[in-house]
Amino acid sequence: MSQSLAQIHQAARELEDAQPQEIVRYAYDLLGEGLVVTCSFSDAVLAHVASTAVPGIEIVMLDTQFLFAETHWFATELRNKFNLNLRVIEPLVESENLWQTNIEGCCAARKVEPLERLLAEKTGWVTGVRRADAPTRATTPVMSYDIMRNVIKVNPLAAMSDDDISLYERINELPEHPLVDKGYSSIGCWPCTRPVDGAQDKRSGRWAGQDKIECGLHV
Ligand code: SF4
Repeated sequence: MSQSLAQIHQAARELEDAQPQEIVRYAYDLLGEGLVVTCSFSDAVLAHVASTAVPGIEIVMLDTQFLFAETHWFATELRNKFNLNLRVIEPLVESENLWQTNIEGCCAARKVEPLERLLAEKTGWVTGVRRADAPTRATTPVMSYDIMRNVIKVNPLAAMSDDDISLYERINELPEHPLVDKGYSSIGCWPCTRPVDGAQDKRSGRWAGQDKIECGLHV
């Protein structure tokens, strides 16, 4: 990595009030093709932000093979609508049902390993993590150094509140994931995602009833 930690921290401070597209553009100017976006496709915002900031930027869907059919449909819709440069990465395991017995092992094999395989060839990683997602994400910086993956991690939506996201969707007339209307406020794999009551924490439908709140991607 040619950027020093001090430079990354300074950039994070300077970009704190920047618009999401400006943050992605800054990161692309810094890292060029070494920058990749990973997108959960639970909404359209990150894909729209990234592809309007840098048309043709590589956007990756980590397909655990347990995503909802609606998520695959939604990603295809967005790819066609916004002409996304979409790449799908699959896990090396295919038929194991570890989610029934060992969710940590399942996430490690189906989420973390594919991500780390991807990032081994990259220098920067754009995510959709927001401070408003959950208390565990409340201090998310706009930019940081991910020491484990040796990449600059860029979170252009970090400062956006839920209202900001809704406003962005309305202004840009973005489509909504079909499961949102059915009470899913955070959408991951079908075995580990439940709809939630509006009063509950948005991510409480993920691994409901389990002592787990993150999949291991954002550590
Ligand atoms: S969220 Fe559930 S199904 Fe998806 S990788 Fe993790 S344990 Fe497996």
